[in-house]
Parts: sequence; structure tokens; C-alpha cells
Amino acid sequence: MSKLEEKAIKLLLKYEERGLLQSELWHKLGVTSREGSRIAIKLEKKGIVKRVKEFARDRWTRRLVPLIRQVTLEPIKGSPCPSCIYNNVCGRQGTVSPNTCVWIEEWLVSSSSSSRSIEKN
Ligand code: SF4
Repeated sequence: MSKLEEKAIKLLLKYEERGLLQSELWHKLGVTSREGSRIAIKLEKKGIVKRVKEFARDRWTRRLVPLIRQVTLEPIKGSPCPSCIYNNVCGRQGTVSPNTCVWIEEWLVSSSSSSRSIEKN
């Protein structure tokens, strides 16, 4: 993936919900429309954006809507799994199952109760 594609993705992720008009993205990237179109087509082929036809500013153009989302590790913060001694053997194919793990159960219960107390405040 080129540096410009990476930069385009970072910009598009700031507009996750509505996406950006192609021309807005080219402007922000500082590239020509021809160069920008090439980037958009590449990103579409990779399944990173969808190009939606839209009438804007008196002409037909394309809106680039990201198909990917930013991932945050916040929901699993404090989980016992990353530091667990059974981490490499735990899972569907493993010898240990998270379905019977007391540590993950305790963490889920405590996470759930602490998020409920945050909601009350
Ligand atoms: S689910 Fe339990 S046993 Fe499995 S990695 Fe997490 S803490 Fe360890």
C-alpha cells in the first residue's frame, strides 16, 4: 500500500459515517483529480471504500464511504487474557476454553458492573 493510500485511509476514517466527496479528499491530500481517482479505485478494489454516485456542487461526483472502522482496544482493557499463562492454548481448538474460565467471567462481571455505575452517573 502506498503512502498516499495510507494517508487517504487515515483521512477517510475521520469521516466514517458520511465519507468524503472525492474532490474534498483530493484537496486534503494535495493531489490531482486523476491521481486521486486512481487512489480511490485502488481502495475500492481492496474493499476499503465504496464509491457512491452523488450530485453535489452542480455536478455528478462520487462520495467515498469507508467500509472499514477504527478499532479501539478500550473494550478489552484490563482483560486477563493477554497476560494469561493459558493464552496460547485457550480457544476453540485449544485445550482450555474461555467458556469455563473463571478469570474471564470475573472480569466480565466486574467490567459490566463498573460500566453500569458509569451510566448511572
Ligand atoms: S479466557 Fe481465561 S484461560 Fe483463556 S486466555 Fe483468557 S484468562 Fe486465560
